[in-house]
Amino acid sequence: MIQTVRGTRDILPEDMPLWRRVEDVAREAFRRYGFSEIRTPIFEKTELFARGVGEATDIVHKEMYTFIDRARADSEGESLTLRPENTASVVRAYIQHKIFADKSPGELTRLYYIGPMFRRERPQAGRYRQFYQIGAEVMGSSDDPAIEAEVIEMLEWFLKELKITGTTLLINSVGEPASRAAYLEKLREAIKPNLDRLCADCHHRYETNALRVFDCKIESCQAVIASLPVITDSLDEASREHFGKFKAHLDARGIAYKVNPRMVRGLDYYTRTAFEIVGNDKLGAQNTLVGGGRYDGLSETIGGPPTKGFGFAFGLDRMVMSLPEDEAGRLRAADAPDVFIVFLGEAARDHAFNVARDLRAAGIAVAMEFEDRKMKKAMTAAAKSRARYALIIGDDEVASGKYGLKNLTAGEQESLTLDEVIAKLS
Ligand code: ATP
Ligand code: MG
Repeated sequence: MIQTVRGTRDILPEDMPLWRRVEDVAREAFRRYGFSEIRTPIFEKTELFARGVGEATDIVHKEMYTFIDRARADSEGESLTLRPENTASVVRAYIQHKIFADKSPGELTRLYYIGPMFRRERPQAGRYRQFYQIGAEVMGSSDDPAIEAEVIEMLEWFLKELKITGTTLLINSVGEPASRAAYLEKLREAIKPNLDRLCADCHHRYETNALRVFDCKIESCQAVIASLPVITDSLDEASREHFGKFKAHLDARGIAYKVNPRMVRGLDYYTRTAFEIVGNDKLGAQNTLVGGGRYDGLSETIGGPPTKGFGFAFGLDRMVMSLPEDEAGRLRAADAPDVFIVFLGEAARDHAFNVARDLRAAGIAVAMEFEDRKMKKAMTAAAKSRARYALIIGDDEVASGKYGLKNLTAGEQESLTLDEVIAKLS
């Protein structure tokens, strides 16, 4: 039997109501906060991610699904990559379509996306090779820290609406790339005598971008990481001021946070503000729900005009896992037909088809099976469908034009005309 590829999975119908709920609440949050949706391709030129995400990141270094697309058998072919994240693509689209061009000075562009991402990671609970992200980007000429606080406020509303509790907002500033050089020198000096206690990936990080060492999840590296100087103590003046204002904006909105000076996020493009929302204990080891930050300069890196940017992405997979049990149960139960049609006999069956059509035309979700069954069996099928009501149609009902509408939870039954049934179920 052919099965799904390791690290990928089917999302089955019983789970889809939870996924749809997370998507619906996200769309509602984006609507309220003025974001428009954008969809970019699933694959892009490899160069976009190599430059945009950064060669030194785990993502580009070892996690991308890259392939050569040969236009013709004799051609060199082009290197393409299944998107491992979507910020680089959204910024590419922003540049390519000159979305900035029809904006007035200071006007921001707010975009959001929903879709699958691909990373060749070690599959484990909460970590898949095809996973789903919802993310948003705010781009323009302003880097006002109020933008950051507003985006985080939106995320807080979103989590509250989903009844996800026990999350923690972690924030940090990773400073400006230009003024990071002195700190990186200090960091490399501190790492060097400890290299033999660090993993092979950390050796690579030490060579390419020492800041990435803080991303390491390997247990044996943690003692060294805890001893390293943190960037927060070496911030340039402008970044320090920006971080102060950002925190003041959070305070003013009553949003609780913790400063984590070792949180640098796994993407090279972050400047200044970085943040994470860590989930509650339903998630286990892979407990980062949301990751985001400021990426001024990413546009320039991929050939666009000077642009400030701030955004985030969260994993839908982990968000769905974080829904409380009772909320998940309620969402599954609500995903049921309004009414199940029970017919008795051949003539009633033909009549039932028309009744089903009229109910559906009126916007009612109707379940019906085609096999002629005894009353008891048909009622069992109605219960199994989890419909709120059963509509019973036999020869008498066809003749009188009044049907038996049985409430399957309360048990009571009424005799109603089609119009009355529609009025009751709409
Ligand atoms: P992690 O530290 O968990 O590896 P990351 O730093 O790679 O996360 P980002 O690239 O910032 O994560 O992506 C943002 C969010 O997307 C993560 O917080 C997580 O919820 C989700 N995510 C990332 N990779 C995966 C994956 N392989 N499977 C499921 N969800 C993922
Ligand atoms: Mg990762």
